[in-house]
Amino acid sequence: MIDLRSDTVTRPTPAMRAAMDAAELGDDVLGDDPTVQALEATIADTLGMESAIFTPSGTMANQLAIRSVCEAGDEIIAHRDSHIIHYETGGPAALSGCMINPQDGAGGIFGPSAVTDSIRARDHHNAFSRMLVVENTHNRGGGTIWSIPAFEAVAHVAHEHALHVHVDGARLFNATIAGGYEARDFLAKADTVSVCFSKALGAPVGSALAGPAQLIERARRFRKMFGGTMRQSGLLAGAALYAIQHHVDRLASDHENARILASELEGLSGVRLDVPAEATPTNMVFFQLEDVELDADTFCTALGAHDVAMIGMGPRRVRAVTHLDVDRDDVLKAAKATARVLGSAARTSN
Ligand SMILES: *Cc1c(COP(=O)(O)O)cnc(C)c1O
Repeated sequence: MIDLRSDTVTRPTPAMRAAMDAAELGDDVLGDDPTVQALEATIADTLGMESAIFTPSGTMANQLAIRSVCEAGDEIIAHRDSHIIHYETGGPAALSGCMINPQDGAGGIFGPSAVTDSIRARDHHNAFSRMLVVENTHNRGGGTIWSIPAFEAVAHVAHEHALHVHVDGARLFNATIAGGYEARDFLAKADTVSVCFSKALGAPVGSALAGPAQLIERARRFRKMFGGTMRQSGLLAGAALYAIQHHVDRLASDHENARILASELEGLSGVRLDVPAEATPTNMVFFQLEDVELDADTFCTALGAHDVAMIGMGPRRVRAVTHLDVDRDDVLKAAKATARVLGSAARTSN
């Protein structure tokens, strides 16, 4: 099966398993797992932050940021397609009592005037505008990249109004590789950032939240409360450390494979890419099914019969994601399978 549903499907490589096997372990609930500590120090340094905390998931990392910063009745400004709205089970409302003020903007990107217009006056009638969340890369936006100036412009407005600036950087390293900047430079104006090791970096489990030491200490308390503090988690941190050390630079080849897939799909009738193949930003390809009697789910089921998996992200919108476990040959095969499914659908509807 060529599995392009997500970059979360990767299996640990033999070298990563060896790193896990060699990891020195302790008990992270008791605070003495050396591999978890090494990972937290390494990722804080990589991101240019004072401190970091290892979490079981990116959802927990985002929710810890929100819980550590916001009070019930606060409002978070975020793009309407953001992960914290669509895929975190209503966490901001359930865990922190927060509302979200959703922003528009192509590809998950919005400008400083949107933020200015969304910040509420400090008045006892109003929710308290407390946090800005920027997602980089933006998942539902198409794996799009925020430039440093675009990010700094919204962060500047947020800080002028004393808002906390959180970056959901589940795929931040895809952005740094494709955008040609360093994570710490992008994050110069961010207060906190979450990153996933289990996405494109290829670790089996784990994310981190990084930020000021005092805030991360507070997040440690909530991580325990949310049930996310683990025991010999150095086993997982060992994989994450390996991923950070060995799987960042190779993301360029995932981006190249995504572009190849997009340009193969671009020639097929029945497919309309969200952006021209040439402009494929990172490791994601999104397309709409057009002029064929197929919805996204039916298409994905039919594709599965050809041993290729993609995922529906809307009634007729499909996503394919490249990663560590697929190569150029695989994406060429995936494009051929897509052509076959669309060809037989066209014949059926004629
Ligand atoms: C995957 C993802 C997360 C975290 O997801 P988990 O599955 O909880 O690790 C957060 N933000 C974005 C943008 C993501 O794509």
